[in-house]
Amino acid sequence: MPKFACRCGCVMNLSTGWSDCELSLVPENIIEELIVSLDKENGLSAEQFVEKIDSKSIEVLRCPQCNRLWLENEDGSYNSYIKETE
Ligand SMILES: [Zn+2]
Repeated sequence: MPKFACRCGCVMNLSTGWSDCELSLVPENIIEELIVSLDKENGLSAEQFVEKIDSKSIEVLRCPQCNRLWLENEDGSYNSYIKETE
């Protein structure tokens, strides 16, 4: 997915490594597991660490223009979220 077009018209270029608009939403219990693992002598390898995060996290894109968040669904589609205004 080299480019992603936001509803506001902004096009996010995702083909140049990890851009600032690409985030991961990681459950707190997974972060806790990883922290505990780091303290152990035979804890996770860097590869296992990345696998653990990747398998449990949700990919999020944050539009730099409108701050809308795009959360990836399991089927690869995205749902958008934007700040509510009264
Ligand atoms: Zn946008």
